[in-house]
Amino acid sequence: MRRIGHALASLRWRLTLTFIALLLPLLVLLAGYQYLTLRASLITNRVGELQADFTSAKRLIANKERALGATTTAALRLCNTHPALVGTAVASAVSAVTGQTVQVVVFNSNLTQEAVAPVGSSPPILDAAVLRGVVNRGTRSTAQQISTNSGDQLVVGFPVVAGTGACGVAQLSVAMTPITNVLHDEILLITAGGLVILGLATVLGVMLTGRTLRPMRRLTATAEQLAAGDLTARSRLSPSSDEVGQLASSFDHMADRIQEAFAAQQDSEAQVRRFIADASHELRTPLTALKGYIDVLRRGAGREPAALDAALEAMSNESERMRVLVLDLLTLARLDAQRQSHPEDFDLNAAVNRLLDEGVPGMPSVVQRTLGPLPLTVRADSGAVTTIVRNLLVNACKYAHGAAQHWSTAVEAGWAKLEIRDEGPGIAAADLPHVFERFFRGEKTRAREEGGSGLGLSIVQGLARAQGGDVAIRSAEGMGTTVTVWLPLAPVPPPPPTD
Ligand code: ADP
Repeated sequence: MRRIGHALASLRWRLTLTFIALLLPLLVLLAGYQYLTLRASLITNRVGELQADFTSAKRLIANKERALGATTTAALRLCNTHPALVGTAVASAVSAVTGQTVQVVVFNSNLTQEAVAPVGSSPPILDAAVLRGVVNRGTRSTAQQISTNSGDQLVVGFPVVAGTGACGVAQLSVAMTPITNVLHDEILLITAGGLVILGLATVLGVMLTGRTLRPMRRLTATAEQLAAGDLTARSRLSPSSDEVGQLASSFDHMADRIQEAFAAQQDSEAQVRRFIADASHELRTPLTALKGYIDVLRRGAGREPAALDAALEAMSNESERMRVLVLDLLTLARLDAQRQSHPEDFDLNAAVNRLLDEGVPGMPSVVQRTLGPLPLTVRADSGAVTTIVRNLLVNACKYAHGAAQHWSTAVEAGWAKLEIRDEGPGIAAADLPHVFERFFRGEKTRAREEGGSGLGLSIVQGLARAQGGDVAIRSAEGMGTTVTVWLPLAPVPPPPPTD
């Protein structure tokens, strides 16, 4: 029972039942229309037959009169003077023509009954107003259905015409039974036909809605798979332009996005874990060194001035290394948090000139500048650009020690381009794709004393991208290294208004 209730509550059955509920009144309307039309047509036919009966009766009377030697208008004259005679003649003539099925009542112009046929029968009588209308207008009355003890009768009044006007009414009535029998059969037929149509519509409706809703069932199953954790589940319904097809393709698209977002989240979680592990490792190294020097000093090295100086010098170096590392980590943390940068318009050439003039430890003897005499105005965070230039300068001085450097700026494809080329040892092909990764250090640099923490280039990349620009590196072993930074140009102000 509950299963049937569940099935009927399903969309499939609800759609079918809605369809049937719409079909039902239509069928009822159609059946009602057909019933009424048939009834009207049967009655019209029957009235037509009565009219024909009446006409035949009149012809019989005329023939009889002619046989008696009267003129064709004798009946009319008789009508004026002897309506009772006309009434009897019509009644008997119609009964003779139609057998016992038609009952006739003839009224004179005062609506007094002149004759009834068959004799002794008691047919229903039309309203006086209707009979008066027939006499006055000289036209047939509308057919009326009147109930009697012996069943319903169809009653019509015909004018008995004499000269220019009607001199009486011949009322013909006939049993409705043949008509009601036909109508009864028709009702049975319509009901049976309607039930067959409803049955077929239900079966077809269930089949069609079942087929139409099949993709929905597939989508439901896919959604359940996704909810159960299978992110690879897709409906894979063939694309179609209907609503269900569009829903399916949007659904699969959404599942793709969920899978990507989930993968990206896992990826970024793994990155964060790796970053924390690397950062802790990098911080542990100088801390361990500092602790080592403190132990050495505790054991008495502090009493020898030379050893004390050396230890303090080394401790200062380690703490400087730690300070730089902490600052780098802070910069990366800010970049990760996507803090808003503060872009301003400033001259890139002047900034590069200033930083090169300030210099860093280990500057080579040749530092060539091709910066152009005109200002190159960029829109960027000047602090970020300072860090970018300084990191690149430090790298060139550190990893291409003593080698000539060439700094240049230019405008290319609507961007400000800053390039630094050194003539140092270059980067191994295996290392090159990884130099922008956090904590990555080249094979050769890893063991070297001057090697940093491997954050310099990733900071350069992060800062350049935060300005809306980017960075690229070209290098080959023995061929030097070229780093190119792209920064957005400041928009050109519109020309001053002219009079
Ligand atoms: P760090 O912060 O330790 O200097 P970077 O991220 O700046 O690290 O650089 C990553 C690696 O790229 C370095 O370990 C080095 O091997 C290589 N590298 C960077 N710049 C140069 C350069 N100008 N010449 C040769 N190697 C370079």
